[in-house]
Amino acid sequence: MAKPLLGCIADDFTGATDLANNLVRAGMRAVQTIGIPEGPLDTDADADAIVVALKSRTIPAADAVAQSLDALAWLQRQGVEQVYFKYCSTFDSTPQGNIGPVTDALLDQLQGAGQGFTIACPAFPENKRTVFKGYLFAGDVLLNESGMQNHPLTPMTDPNLVRVLQAQTRRKVGLVAYDVVSRGPAAIRERFAQLQAEGVGVAVLDAVSNDDLLRIGPALQGMPLVTAGSGIAIGLPQNWQGSGRLQKGQLADALPPFEGCGAVVSGSCSTATNAQVQQFRQAGRPAFAVDPLAIAAGEDVAAAALRWAEPLLARGPVLVHATAEPAAVKAVQARLGVSQAGEMVEHCLAAVARGLVERGVRQLVVAGGETSGAVVQALGVRQLRIGPQIDPGVPWTWANTALGVPVHLALKSGNFGTPDFFLKTFAGAV
Ligand code: ADP
Repeated sequence: MAKPLLGCIADDFTGATDLANNLVRAGMRAVQTIGIPEGPLDTDADADAIVVALKSRTIPAADAVAQSLDALAWLQRQGVEQVYFKYCSTFDSTPQGNIGPVTDALLDQLQGAGQGFTIACPAFPENKRTVFKGYLFAGDVLLNESGMQNHPLTPMTDPNLVRVLQAQTRRKVGLVAYDVVSRGPAAIRERFAQLQAEGVGVAVLDAVSNDDLLRIGPALQGMPLVTAGSGIAIGLPQNWQGSGRLQKGQLADALPPFEGCGAVVSGSCSTATNAQVQQFRQAGRPAFAVDPLAIAAGEDVAAAALRWAEPLLARGPVLVHATAEPAAVKAVQARLGVSQAGEMVEHCLAAVARGLVERGVRQLVVAGGETSGAVVQALGVRQLRIGPQIDPGVPWTWANTALGVPVHLALKSGNFGTPDFFLKTFAGAV
């Protein structure tokens, strides 16, 4: 197995997939691990990039630092040449962290206490996240006018990333502004040197287009640590293609052939997922609605769903969903409590997913971030090979399970995907 080139530490699960997806599209074969593996990767997991998915975005900073350092140590044992700390493209954090403290700890470890130099850049223009003069825009408005100022855990009330990051890091923060970025890699490197001479340890980078990301990429060649959203990943693989370490034009998204039956398990109640469920039903496809109140009343709803699904599977994909409109969800939550209802439904859908795989499903779409976490755990999945993109941010993946069979999985976070997602996903695969 060839040594991986890039080792990534992502602060949440769907963010990890988003990053891996960008790396694959730019030509690197990528494997995502769920948490820090205990040993080396599976022997069949040849990868140019490994993305370790943590859940460290909003945990106490000291815990995020400890987990990130553990992930770094594991990645170093795999022989990676460059480390990428991935956070949200809306820079989700508070003055306590976790972006600054994790960046400090990783730099201390890689380049010496208080030493070293890295970048910070959440820009992802394809997803309408741009940085100009150090100010982060979401769509056409500044971050603090985008709704992120009301985020329950990480309210972003200041769009100036130099200020936001300076409040979180011991290192001096500087800026590589657009006039430099637009002049290309040599100018960017020159500015890096200038900032370092001024004692800067972390440089925020402007980027407003994909072309900017491709200009920034070469300037990051050989930098031990990069910190960014998933956008910066688009410009990195070219650094290894130049030196012949990666095959130019290599098919990075190849997965084993699709097999078996298809199914969708949906626990997201987002607007997008509700529309996807509705289209699937309107197309006359078989769908089973999970009733949270029946679960609470002690009924074995998972068993009922599986009894319903079993005779249908051979005829095409089935859908089992708890997805409901906001009013119905609110009513259930009022009766059962928000977290109790969530846990009960997640538990039920995870059992359904496991039962479906036991009954021959080998292509499984899961809708919902938390729901995906529960399903992946129930299937005993530890690593995902990232395949072709279905919709922005959602690739097909392939994984071994604890049930002794491999499955193709598409893990869709709530608001992703077009309304026909559940229909078109299988059309290409089956
Ligand atoms: P998203 O990515 O859209 O946020 P998640 O799976 O992360 O989706 O979260 C949805 C949460 O809502 C889960 O905890 C799920 O169990 C819960 N849930 C799903 N359907 C219902 C329902 N009908 N009533 C109450 N809670 C539900």
